[in-house]
Amino acid sequence: MSFDSLGLSADILRAVAEQGYSEPTPIQRQAIPVVLSGRDLLASAQTGTGKTAGFTLPLLQKLSAKATARGRRPVRALILTPTRELAAQVGENVSEYSKYLPLRSLVVFGGVSINPQMMKLRGGVDILVATPGRLLDLAHQNAVDLSQVEVLVLDEADRMLDMGFIHDIRRVLAKLPARRQNLLFSATFSDEIKTLAEKLLHNPEQVEVARRNTASEQVSQQVVFVDKKRKRELLSQLIGEGNWQQVLVFTRTKHGANHLAEQLGKDGITAAAIHGNKSQGARTRALADFKSGGIRVLVATDIAARGLDIEELPHVVNYELPNVAEDYVHRIGRTGRAAATGAALSLVCVDEHKLLRDIERLLKREIPRLAVAGYDPDPGIKAEPIQNGRQQQTRGGGGGRGRGPGSSMPRPSGDKRPQQARRQGPASADKPARPRRPAVKRSGNS
Ligand code: AMP
Repeated sequence: MSFDSLGLSADILRAVAEQGYSEPTPIQRQAIPVVLSGRDLLASAQTGTGKTAGFTLPLLQKLSAKATARGRRPVRALILTPTRELAAQVGENVSEYSKYLPLRSLVVFGGVSINPQMMKLRGGVDILVATPGRLLDLAHQNAVDLSQVEVLVLDEADRMLDMGFIHDIRRVLAKLPARRQNLLFSATFSDEIKTLAEKLLHNPEQVEVARRNTASEQVSQQVVFVDKKRKRELLSQLIGEGNWQQVLVFTRTKHGANHLAEQLGKDGITAAAIHGNKSQGARTRALADFKSGGIRVLVATDIAARGLDIEELPHVVNYELPNVAEDYVHRIGRTGRAAATGAALSLVCVDEHKLLRDIERLLKREIPRLAVAGYDPDPGIKAEPIQNGRQQQTRGGGGGRGRGPGSSMPRPSGDKRPQQARRQGPASADKPARPRRPAVKRSGNS
Protein backbone atom coordinates (compact mmCIF):
# COMPACT_ATOMS: atom_id res chain seq x y z
CA MET A 1 0.00 0.00 0.00
CA SER A 2 1.32 3.47 -0.80
CA PHE A 3 0.57 6.87 0.73
CA ASP A 4 -1.19 7.89 -2.52
CA SER A 5 -4.35 5.97 -1.69
CA LEU A 6 -4.97 7.66 1.65
CA GLY A 7 -6.60 10.82 0.35
CA LEU A 8 -3.74 13.20 1.13
CA SER A 9 -2.98 16.18 -1.08
CA ALA A 10 -0.07 16.31 -3.52
CA ASP A 11 1.72 18.88 -1.35
CA ILE A 12 1.62 16.57 1.64
CA LEU A 13 2.65 13.54 -0.40
CA ARG A 14 5.60 15.46 -1.76
CA ALA A 15 6.80 16.32 1.74
CA VAL A 16 6.32 12.71 2.85
CA ALA A 17 8.27 11.43 -0.14
CA GLU A 18 11.10 13.79 0.73
CA GLN A 19 11.27 12.16 4.16
CA GLY A 20 12.00 8.92 2.36
CA TYR A 21 8.85 7.14 3.55
CA SER A 22 7.82 4.68 0.87
CA GLU A 23 4.73 3.24 2.52
CA PRO A 24 2.55 4.03 5.51
CA THR A 25 3.20 2.20 8.76
CA PRO A 26 0.32 0.17 10.28
CA ILE A 27 -0.73 2.97 12.62
CA GLN A 28 -0.71 5.42 9.72
CA ARG A 29 -2.81 3.10 7.56
CA GLN A 30 -5.38 2.83 10.31
CA ALA A 31 -5.36 6.30 11.82
CA ILE A 32 -5.21 8.52 8.74
CA PRO A 33 -8.66 7.56 7.34
CA VAL A 34 -10.25 7.92 10.78
CA VAL A 35 -8.82 11.38 11.36
CA LEU A 36 -9.85 12.46 7.85
CA SER A 37 -13.39 11.25 8.52
CA GLY A 38 -13.66 13.67 11.42
CA ARG A 39 -14.22 11.02 14.07
CA ASP A 40 -12.56 10.93 17.46
CA LEU A 41 -9.72 8.47 17.76
CA LEU A 42 -8.35 6.33 20.55
CA ALA A 43 -5.03 4.95 19.38
CA SER A 44 -2.76 2.53 21.08
CA ALA A 45 0.69 3.16 19.72
CA GLN A 46 4.14 3.82 21.00
CA THR A 47 6.87 6.12 19.85
CA GLY A 48 8.66 4.43 17.00
CA THR A 49 5.54 3.26 15.21
CA GLY A 50 5.19 6.36 13.07
CA LYS A 51 2.28 7.66 15.15
CA THR A 52 3.32 11.30 14.74
CA ALA A 53 2.75 11.22 10.99
CA GLY A 54 -0.35 9.14 11.75
CA PHE A 55 -2.06 12.14 13.29
CA THR A 56 -0.14 14.99 11.67
CA LEU A 57 -0.66 14.12 8.01
CA PRO A 58 -4.48 13.96 8.13
CA LEU A 59 -4.52 16.98 10.41
CA LEU A 60 -2.62 18.97 7.81
CA GLN A 61 -4.94 17.70 5.12
CA LYS A 62 -8.00 18.89 7.02
CA LEU A 63 -6.61 22.27 7.96
CA SER A 64 -5.32 23.03 4.49
CA ALA A 65 -8.53 21.93 2.81
CA LYS A 66 -10.48 24.55 4.70
CA ALA A 67 -9.37 28.05 3.80
CA THR A 68 -7.92 30.11 6.61
CA ALA A 69 -9.36 33.53 7.16
CA ARG A 70 -7.01 36.34 6.37
CA GLY A 71 -5.58 38.39 9.19
CA ARG A 72 -5.74 37.02 12.70
CA ARG A 73 -5.19 33.29 12.83
CA PRO A 74 -6.41 31.53 15.93
CA VAL A 75 -4.95 28.14 16.78
CA ARG A 76 -6.87 25.46 14.86
CA ALA A 77 -5.00 22.36 15.97
CA LEU A 78 -3.47 21.79 19.40
CA ILE A 79 -1.02 18.95 20.06
CA LEU A 80 -0.20 18.37 23.72
CA THR A 81 2.86 16.35 24.68
CA PRO A 82 4.30 15.41 28.07
CA THR A 83 7.89 16.50 27.56
CA ARG A 84 9.83 19.25 25.90
CA GLU A 85 11.82 16.80 23.85
CA LEU A 86 8.72 15.18 22.45
CA ALA A 87 7.17 18.59 21.75
CA ALA A 88 10.30 19.62 19.86
CA GLN A 89 10.33 16.37 17.93
CA VAL A 90 6.64 16.56 17.01
CA GLY A 91 7.08 20.22 16.05
CA GLU A 92 9.95 19.31 13.77
CA ASN A 93 7.83 16.65 12.09
CA VAL A 94 4.89 19.04 11.68
CA SER A 95 7.06 21.61 9.99
CA GLU A 96 8.65 19.01 7.71
CA TYR A 97 5.31 17.53 6.66
CA SER A 98 3.74 20.98 6.14
CA LYS A 99 6.61 22.59 4.26
CA TYR A 100 4.56 22.94 1.06
CA LEU A 101 1.40 24.12 2.80
CA PRO A 102 0.39 27.65 3.74
CA LEU A 103 0.08 26.65 7.40
CA ARG A 104 2.04 27.99 10.32
CA SER A 105 3.11 25.86 13.25
CA LEU A 106 4.81 26.64 16.52
CA VAL A 107 6.24 24.64 19.42
CA VAL A 108 6.02 26.03 22.97
CA PHE A 109 7.45 24.56 26.14
CA GLY A 110 8.91 25.76 29.41
CA GLY A 111 12.50 26.26 30.39
CA VAL A 112 13.02 28.85 27.69
CA SER A 113 11.95 32.49 27.48
CA ILE A 114 8.20 32.98 27.03
CA ASN A 115 8.40 36.29 25.16
CA PRO A 116 9.47 35.01 21.75
CA GLN A 117 6.65 32.46 21.99
CA MET A 118 4.16 35.22 22.71
CA MET A 119 5.43 37.24 19.77
CA LYS A 120 5.08 34.32 17.40
CA LEU A 121 1.60 33.54 18.64
CA ARG A 122 0.62 37.12 18.00
CA GLY A 123 1.70 36.70 14.40
CA GLY A 124 -0.82 33.86 13.95
CA VAL A 125 -0.32 30.12 14.32
CA ASP A 126 -2.49 27.35 12.86
CA ILE A 127 -0.92 24.37 14.63
CA LEU A 128 0.40 24.65 18.15
CA VAL A 129 2.51 21.91 19.75
CA ALA A 130 2.77 22.46 23.49
CA THR A 131 3.56 21.02 26.86
CA PRO A 132 0.66 21.67 29.24
CA GLY A 133 2.38 23.94 31.77
CA ARG A 134 3.71 26.47 29.31
CA LEU A 135 0.48 26.45 27.36
CA LEU A 136 -1.42 27.42 30.51
CA ASP A 137 1.10 30.15 31.28
CA LEU A 138 0.53 31.55 27.80
CA ALA A 139 -3.22 31.28 28.18
CA HIS A 140 -3.11 33.09 31.53
CA GLN A 141 -1.28 35.93 29.85
CA ASN A 142 -3.89 36.02 27.10
CA ALA A 143 -1.19 35.22 24.60
CA VAL A 144 -3.03 32.32 23.01
CA ASP A 145 -6.60 31.98 21.79
CA LEU A 146 -7.78 28.39 22.09
CA SER A 147 -11.44 29.10 21.39
CA GLN A 148 -11.19 28.08 17.73
CA VAL A 149 -9.37 24.77 18.14
CA GLU A 150 -10.81 22.24 15.69
CA VAL A 151 -8.60 19.28 16.54
CA LEU A 152 -6.98 18.33 19.83
CA VAL A 153 -4.24 15.69 19.99
CA LEU A 154 -3.09 14.24 23.30
CA ASP A 155 0.18 12.54 22.51
CA GLU A 156 1.61 9.97 24.93
CA ALA A 157 -1.38 10.53 27.17
CA ASP A 158 -0.28 7.79 29.57
CA ARG A 159 2.96 9.57 30.22
CA MET A 160 1.15 12.85 30.74
CA LEU A 161 -0.93 11.26 33.47
CA ASP A 162 2.13 9.54 34.98
CA MET A 163 3.74 12.92 35.24
CA GLY A 164 0.79 14.39 37.08
CA PHE A 165 -0.53 16.56 34.27
CA ILE A 166 -4.18 15.59 34.64
CA HIS A 167 -5.15 18.86 36.32
CA ASP A 168 -3.38 20.88 33.67
CA ILE A 169 -5.06 18.86 30.95
CA ARG A 170 -8.45 19.58 32.48
CA ARG A 171 -7.64 23.28 32.62
CA VAL A 172 -6.64 23.23 28.97
CA LEU A 173 -9.80 21.34 27.99
CA ALA A 174 -11.89 24.02 29.69
CA LYS A 175 -10.46 26.58 27.29
CA LEU A 176 -11.35 24.63 24.14
CA PRO A 177 -14.61 24.85 22.23
CA ALA A 178 -17.03 22.00 22.93
CA ARG A 179 -17.26 21.04 19.27
CA ARG A 180 -13.94 19.65 18.15
CA GLN A 181 -12.23 16.45 17.11
CA ASN A 182 -10.17 14.64 19.75
CA LEU A 183 -7.31 12.24 19.13
CA LEU A 184 -5.79 10.38 22.04
CA PHE A 185 -2.54 8.42 21.67
CA SER A 186 -1.26 6.24 24.44
CA ALA A 187 1.16 3.32 24.70
CA THR A 188 -0.69 1.79 27.64
CA PHE A 189 -4.31 1.74 28.80
CA SER A 190 -4.58 2.08 32.54
CA ASP A 191 -7.93 2.70 34.20
CA GLU A 192 -6.98 6.36 34.40
CA ILE A 193 -6.46 6.58 30.66
CA LYS A 194 -9.77 4.83 30.08
CA THR A 195 -11.51 7.34 32.35
CA LEU A 196 -9.91 10.22 30.53
CA ALA A 197 -10.82 8.71 27.17
CA GLU A 198 -14.44 8.24 28.22
CA LYS A 199 -14.74 11.89 29.22
CA LEU A 200 -12.83 13.28 26.30
CA LEU A 201 -13.78 11.19 23.31
CA HIS A 202 -17.15 10.93 21.61
CA ASN A 203 -17.88 7.61 20.01
CA PRO A 204 -14.21 7.09 19.15
CA GLU A 205 -12.80 4.77 16.58
CA GLN A 206 -10.18 2.56 18.20
CA VAL A 207 -6.98 1.57 16.50
CA GLU A 208 -4.21 -0.51 17.86
CA VAL A 209 -0.84 -1.57 16.59
CA ALA A 210 1.32 -4.29 18.00
CA ARG A 211 3.71 -3.17 20.64
CA ARG A 212 6.58 -3.55 18.31
CA ASN A 213 9.18 -3.48 20.98
CA THR A 214 7.88 -6.36 23.00
CA ALA A 215 7.42 -8.56 19.99
CA SER A 216 10.10 -6.97 17.91
CA GLU A 217 12.52 -9.10 16.07
CA GLN A 218 14.39 -5.95 15.23
CA VAL A 219 15.77 -5.37 18.69
CA SER A 220 18.08 -8.01 20.05
CA GLN A 221 17.91 -7.96 23.82
CA GLN A 222 20.49 -9.36 26.19
CA VAL A 223 21.25 -9.35 29.89
CA VAL A 224 24.69 -9.50 31.49
CA PHE A 225 24.90 -10.28 35.19
CA VAL A 226 27.65 -8.17 36.70
CA ASP A 227 28.55 -6.71 40.07
CA LYS A 228 27.39 -3.14 40.56
CA LYS A 229 30.92 -1.87 41.17
CA ARG A 230 32.15 -3.32 37.88
CA LYS A 231 29.42 -2.04 35.58
CA ARG A 232 31.32 1.01 34.42
CA GLU A 233 34.44 -0.97 33.63
CA LEU A 234 32.40 -3.52 31.69
CA LEU A 235 30.55 -0.82 29.78
CA SER A 236 33.78 0.91 28.74
CA GLN A 237 35.20 -2.42 27.63
CA LEU A 238 32.10 -3.33 25.57
CA ILE A 239 32.01 0.08 23.91
CA GLY A 240 35.72 -0.06 23.14
CA GLU A 241 35.97 -3.66 21.99
CA GLY A 242 32.75 -3.56 20.03
CA ASN A 243 33.70 -0.19 18.56
CA TRP A 244 30.22 1.10 19.39
CA GLN A 245 29.94 4.60 18.01
CA GLN A 246 26.49 5.66 19.19
CA VAL A 247 25.22 4.36 22.49
CA LEU A 248 22.28 5.57 24.54
CA VAL A 249 22.81 4.56 28.17
CA PHE A 250 20.11 4.69 30.82
CA THR A 251 20.61 5.34 34.48
CA ARG A 252 17.96 5.63 37.17
CA THR A 253 19.08 8.94 38.58
CA LYS A 254 20.34 12.29 37.43
CA HIS A 255 23.31 12.01 39.73
CA GLY A 256 24.11 8.57 38.32
CA ALA A 257 23.88 9.95 34.77
CA ASN A 258 26.34 12.77 35.52
CA HIS A 259 28.73 10.49 37.31
CA LEU A 260 28.75 7.87 34.59
CA ALA A 261 29.24 10.44 31.81
CA GLU A 262 32.23 11.82 33.70
CA GLN A 263 33.72 8.40 34.28
CA LEU A 264 33.35 7.38 30.67
CA GLY A 265 35.10 10.60 29.73
CA LYS A 266 38.01 9.55 31.93
CA ASP A 267 38.07 6.24 30.08
CA GLY A 268 38.50 8.18 26.85
CA ILE A 269 34.92 7.71 25.66
CA THR A 270 33.16 10.95 24.76
CA ALA A 271 29.90 11.18 26.69
CA ALA A 272 27.29 13.67 27.86
CA ALA A 273 24.43 13.39 30.33
CA ILE A 274 20.88 14.49 29.65
CA HIS A 275 18.36 14.85 32.45
CA GLY A 276 15.92 17.17 34.10
CA ASN A 277 18.44 19.30 35.96
CA LYS A 278 20.14 20.30 32.75
CA SER A 279 19.07 23.49 31.07
CA GLN A 280 17.12 23.19 27.86
CA GLY A 281 20.12 24.56 25.99
CA ALA A 282 22.42 21.90 27.44
CA ARG A 283 19.95 19.15 26.61
CA THR A 284 19.50 20.33 23.04
CA ARG A 285 23.25 20.63 22.59
CA ALA A 286 23.96 17.18 24.00
CA LEU A 287 21.33 15.64 21.75
CA ALA A 288 22.66 17.45 18.67
CA ASP A 289 26.23 16.34 19.47
CA PHE A 290 25.05 12.79 19.94
CA LYS A 291 23.09 12.77 16.69
CA SER A 292 25.96 14.22 14.71
CA GLY A 293 28.48 11.75 16.11
CA GLY A 294 30.33 14.41 18.13
CA ILE A 295 29.92 12.27 21.25
CA ARG A 296 29.66 8.50 21.41
CA VAL A 297 27.58 8.05 24.51
CA LEU A 298 24.50 9.85 25.73
CA VAL A 299 23.63 8.98 29.31
CA ALA A 300 20.00 9.66 30.05
CA THR A 301 17.31 9.23 32.67
CA ASP A 302 13.95 7.87 31.57
CA ILE A 303 12.04 11.12 31.43
CA ALA A 304 14.80 12.96 29.62
CA ALA A 305 14.95 10.24 26.98
CA ARG A 306 11.22 10.23 26.41
CA GLY A 307 10.47 11.51 22.96
CA LEU A 308 14.03 11.38 21.72
CA ASP A 309 13.99 10.43 18.12
CA ILE A 310 17.38 9.33 17.00
CA GLU A 311 17.29 7.51 13.75
CA GLU A 312 18.77 4.04 13.59
CA LEU A 313 20.24 4.13 17.04
CA PRO A 314 22.36 0.97 17.14
CA HIS A 315 22.92 0.49 20.88
CA VAL A 316 20.87 0.99 23.99
CA VAL A 317 22.36 0.01 27.34
CA ASN A 318 20.42 -0.25 30.55
CA TYR A 319 23.19 0.59 32.96
CA GLU A 320 20.57 0.25 35.64
CA LEU A 321 17.20 -1.35 35.16
CA PRO A 322 14.20 0.95 35.54
CA ASN A 323 11.96 0.64 38.58
CA VAL A 324 8.92 0.34 36.37
CA ALA A 325 8.95 -2.54 33.91
CA GLU A 326 7.07 -0.49 31.30
CA ASP A 327 9.99 1.90 31.13
CA TYR A 328 12.19 -0.92 29.90
CA VAL A 329 9.99 -1.19 26.83
CA HIS A 330 10.16 2.56 26.28
CA ARG A 331 13.93 2.49 26.67
CA ILE A 332 14.63 -0.26 24.19
CA GLY A 333 12.19 1.42 21.81
CA ARG A 334 14.97 3.93 21.23
CA THR A 335 16.72 1.37 19.08
CA GLY A 336 15.62 -0.75 16.17
CA ARG A 337 13.24 1.96 14.98
CA ALA A 338 11.69 2.11 11.54
CA ALA A 339 13.61 -0.38 9.42
CA ALA A 340 16.80 -0.37 11.45
CA THR A 341 18.01 -3.10 13.75
CA GLY A 342 19.43 -2.50 17.16
CA ALA A 343 20.79 -4.12 20.26
CA ALA A 344 19.64 -3.52 23.81
CA LEU A 345 21.91 -4.71 26.59
CA SER A 346 21.06 -4.63 30.28
CA LEU A 347 23.75 -4.71 32.96
CA VAL A 348 22.07 -6.36 35.92
CA CYS A 349 23.53 -6.57 39.42
CA VAL A 350 22.25 -8.70 42.28
CA ASP A 351 20.09 -5.85 43.62
CA GLU A 352 18.13 -5.77 40.37
CA HIS A 353 17.06 -9.39 40.02
CA LYS A 354 13.51 -8.60 41.06
CA LEU A 355 13.28 -5.75 38.55
CA LEU A 356 14.49 -8.13 35.85
CA ARG A 357 11.81 -10.66 36.80
CA ASP A 358 9.15 -7.92 36.53
CA ILE A 359 10.40 -6.95 33.08
CA GLU A 360 10.45 -10.54 31.86
CA ARG A 361 6.95 -11.07 33.19
CA LEU A 362 5.81 -8.05 31.19
CA LEU A 363 7.59 -9.25 28.05
CA LYS A 364 6.30 -12.76 28.68
CA ARG A 365 9.69 -14.22 27.94
CA GLU A 366 13.18 -14.52 29.28
CA ILE A 367 15.78 -12.15 27.90
CA PRO A 368 18.82 -14.11 26.69
CA ARG A 369 21.82 -14.03 29.02
CA LEU A 370 25.26 -13.02 27.86
CA ALA A 371 28.34 -13.99 29.84
CA VAL A 372 31.39 -11.75 29.53
CA ALA A 373 34.65 -13.41 30.52
CA GLY A 374 36.19 -11.92 33.62
CA TYR A 375 32.96 -10.32 34.85
CA ASP A 376 31.20 -13.17 36.62
CA PRO A 377 29.37 -11.78 39.63
CA ASP A 378 30.85 -12.42 43.06
CA PRO A 379 28.42 -14.86 44.70
CA GLY A 380 29.38 -13.45 48.10
CA ILE A 381 27.69 -10.11 47.38
CA LYS A 382 24.17 -9.94 48.78
CA ALA A 383 21.33 -7.90 47.35
CA GLU A 384 20.74 -4.48 48.86
CA PRO A 385 17.77 -2.13 48.49
CA ILE A 386 17.98 0.01 45.39
CA GLN A 387 19.08 3.58 45.94
CA ASN A 388 17.27 5.87 43.61
CA GLY A 389 19.22 8.98 44.26
CA ARG A 390 19.94 11.70 46.71
CA GLN A 391 17.20 13.17 48.80
CA GLN A 392 15.64 16.03 46.90
CA GLN A 393 12.42 17.92 47.02
CA THR A 394 11.64 18.29 43.38
CA ARG A 395 10.67 15.50 41.13
CA GLY A 396 10.24 14.88 37.47
CA GLY A 397 12.61 15.19 34.63
CA GLY A 398 11.84 18.41 32.94
CA GLY A 399 13.47 20.95 35.14
CA GLY A 400 12.28 24.41 35.71
CA ARG A 401 8.82 25.62 35.71
CA GLY A 402 9.77 27.95 38.40
CA ARG A 403 9.75 25.50 41.25
CA GLY A 404 13.32 24.76 42.02
CA PRO A 405 14.80 22.43 44.59
CA GLY A 406 13.27 23.00 47.95
CA SER A 407 9.80 23.57 46.59
CA SER A 408 7.26 21.63 48.54
CA MET A 409 3.99 22.50 46.95
CA PRO A 410 1.45 19.98 48.16
CA ARG A 411 -0.29 17.81 45.64
CA PRO A 412 -3.86 19.01 45.23
CA SER A 413 -6.25 16.95 47.29
CA GLY A 414 -8.03 15.89 44.13
CA ASP A 415 -5.11 13.73 43.10
CA LYS A 416 -6.75 10.71 41.59
CA ARG A 417 -3.60 8.96 40.54
CA PRO A 418 -3.65 5.33 41.49
CA GLN A 419 -1.56 4.12 44.38
CA GLN A 420 0.99 2.73 42.01
CA ALA A 421 1.51 6.02 40.22
CA ARG A 422 1.56 7.95 43.46
CA ARG A 423 4.12 5.64 44.90
CA GLN A 424 6.25 5.70 41.83
CA GLY A 425 5.81 9.40 41.30
CA PRO A 426 5.70 10.75 37.81
CA ALA A 427 8.29 8.38 36.49
CA SER A 428 10.93 6.14 37.82
CA ALA A 429 13.88 8.10 36.66
CA ASP A 430 15.00 11.50 37.78
CA LYS A 431 13.23 10.92 40.96
CA PRO A 432 14.58 10.15 44.35
CA ALA A 433 13.11 7.35 46.41
CA ARG A 434 11.08 8.95 49.12
CA PRO A 435 8.32 6.94 50.65
CA ARG A 436 6.21 9.85 51.87
CA ARG A 437 7.02 13.34 50.94
CA PRO A 438 5.35 16.50 49.82
CA ALA A 439 4.85 16.39 46.10
CA VAL A 440 4.84 19.17 43.61
CA LYS A 441 1.91 19.42 41.31
CA ARG A 442 3.82 19.21 38.11
CA SER A 443 6.91 17.46 37.06
CA GLY A 444 8.28 20.69 35.78
CA ASN A 445 8.66 19.31 32.36
CA SER A 446 6.78 21.93 30.58
P1 AMP B 1 7.18 8.21 15.63
O1 AMP B 1 6.59 6.93 16.13
O2 AMP B 1 6.16 9.14 15.12
O3 AMP B 1 8.09 8.81 16.69
O4 AMP B 1 8.12 7.87 14.37
C1 AMP B 1 9.24 7.05 14.47
C2 AMP B 1 10.20 7.21 13.30
O5 AMP B 1 9.66 6.61 12.13
C3 AMP B 1 10.51 8.64 12.92
O6 AMP B 1 11.90 8.74 12.72
C4 AMP B 1 9.79 8.88 11.63
O7 AMP B 1 10.47 9.80 10.81
C5 AMP B 1 9.79 7.50 11.02
N1 AMP B 1 8.63 7.24 10.13
C6 AMP B 1 7.37 7.66 10.30
N2 AMP B 1 6.57 7.19 9.31
C7 AMP B 1 7.35 6.45 8.51
C8 AMP B 1 7.12 5.70 7.31
N3 AMP B 1 5.90 5.62 6.78
N4 AMP B 1 8.17 5.07 6.76
C9 AMP B 1 9.40 5.13 7.31
N5 AMP B 1 9.70 5.82 8.44
C10 AMP B 1 8.68 6.47 9.03
